[in-house]
Amino acid sequence: MATKAYLLVETSVGKTREVATTLTGLPGIATVDVVTGPYDIIAMISADDISVVGDLVTGTSTRPPGSAVLDFKFTPEDEQFRQDLRTFLATELPETWEGGGRYPEEDDWNLTRVIRRKMADRGWLTMHWPEEYGGQGASPVKSAIFNEEIAYLRAPGRDIFGVRMLGPTLMIHGSEEQKRTHLPPVARGEVQWCQGYSEPESGSDLASLSTRAIRDGDDLVINGAKIWTTLAHRADYIMLLTRTDPDAPKHRGISFVLTKRNGQALMDVPWVRSLMADRYIECEVARLIAYNVAYMQGQGLVPTREASMSKVFGSETVRRVTEAAMDVLGLYGTLGREEKWAPLRGRVQEHWMLSFSGTIAAGTSEVQRNIIASRGLGLPRG
Ligand SMILES: Cc1cc2nc3c(=O)[nH]c(=O)nc-3n(C[C@H](O)[C@H](O)[C@H](O)COP(=O)(O)OP(=O)(O)OC[C@H]3O[C@@H](n4cnc5c(N)ncnc54)[C@H](O)[C@@H]3O)c2cc1C
Repeated sequence: MATKAYLLVETSVGKTREVATTLTGLPGIATVDVVTGPYDIIAMISADDISVVGDLVTGTSTRPPGSAVLDFKFTPEDEQFRQDLRTFLATELPETWEGGGRYPEEDDWNLTRVIRRKMADRGWLTMHWPEEYGGQGASPVKSAIFNEEIAYLRAPGRDIFGVRMLGPTLMIHGSEEQKRTHLPPVARGEVQWCQGYSEPESGSDLASLSTRAIRDGDDLVINGAKIWTTLAHRADYIMLLTRTDPDAPKHRGISFVLTKRNGQALMDVPWVRSLMADRYIECEVARLIAYNVAYMQGQGLVPTREASMSKVFGSETVRRVTEAAMDVLGLYGTLGREEKWAPLRGRVQEHWMLSFSGTIAAGTSEVQRNIIASRGLGLPRG
């Protein structure tokens, strides 16, 4: 009677099935089911005689090529690698390094890029990938050591989206052209990927996603909204889940689309950056002028012209700031709070409209300027 037993088979990504086939050919083994994905190393073996599996596990049997029984000690090479990696990290991380945040890559993007390229030069980023795609065919254990050390120091460097999500997916489902195009740049640490799965109305139940991709000649026209896209502002490419067959059952008709992330973080757009800088400076100036009024009052002084300066500059700053927000947000900025796509819950539109009354209420800007002219500058009344 066939007995089920587990055997850990250490292989590099993509080799698991090959090893499974070899195992199947061994005398006494009835079936071998690969039960896990590309990272994993477990094959479920059913054998006529459990001792055959036992022999394999204890290593007394001739092992199939490419397989090994689980050894609870690290090999000298693995230990050496751990040491090399520790030395590397001690050298490359700033002396004051206390560990990055949730995504250490986020904290200092320049540092991330430098360390990533150096790791790539050593072949570490994708060491467990097949050589033809830029890997070293290294064991998953060595790769786990890499991850462990990096995690311990909360060090930057990895592109978890490219290495862990895109890579294995393409290796199994991608065309040769897709593999050759996209995998080597990940291995070389040249690109950052992000993952566009979640949508405002679609999270755990991802099959409910509604972003659509419609073919238009050679193009795919994609419409929809994605959220939670970690590192989107740094990413060069995005792997998008889109609905390509709306008539199919909801778990079908979804395509995995690889695309360049065309958008740019708003703050990286030069005119937005400079506009925001101007408005920010004005807000700071308005704040200081207002504090000056409070300070003078505290000194027992009567800030007549200063109060007018504060009112006119403050209310006009609100005009300029809200106008800038409308410029940046475009038509979205005009949406009211009840609208689904209104940014900042419609506050931009509300404040922009209110900003006009702000230069009228409590004394118009013209009247405030008159006060500054007469009481501040001593100019004659008109
Ligand atoms: C920090 C962070 C980073 C992220 N980065 C990315 C990213 O880069 N790309 C990307 O595409 N997405 C990303 N996500 C999104 C993440 O995958 C979703 O938040 C997650 O799948 C949950 O979906 P949701 O937020 O819509 O919650 P919902 O699906 O609305 O779930 C709400 C609650 O209901 C529970 N629930 C839902 N369905 C069931 C069920 N069937 N049985 C029991 N309980 C259920 C959930 O457990 C949860 O408590 C990120 C999320 C976070 C928090």
